[in-house]
Amino acid sequence: MTDTTDTAKCPACPGRRHPRQYLCNTCWRSLPSTTRGRLARRDARAFQRLRELHRALAARTPLAIIRVSR
Ligand SMILES: [Zn+2]
Repeated sequence: MTDTTDTAKCPACPGRRHPRQYLCNTCWRSLPSTTRGRLARRDARAFQRLRELHRALAARTPLAIIRVSR
């Protein structure tokens, strides 16, 4: 557990992600572009979108079809 300051566990694969990103680069690029655009916005709804992403991942939804609210 020496690298936790630099990376964190990617919630969608066994890989590591940057701590300021929700997913590792490979998984991030697998999301639909509209989903990426919405998740990239850091506004009052950002936490709600992150919860939707994690809920979809928990349900084993394929990354390519995960949608989050506007
Ligand atoms: Zn990943």
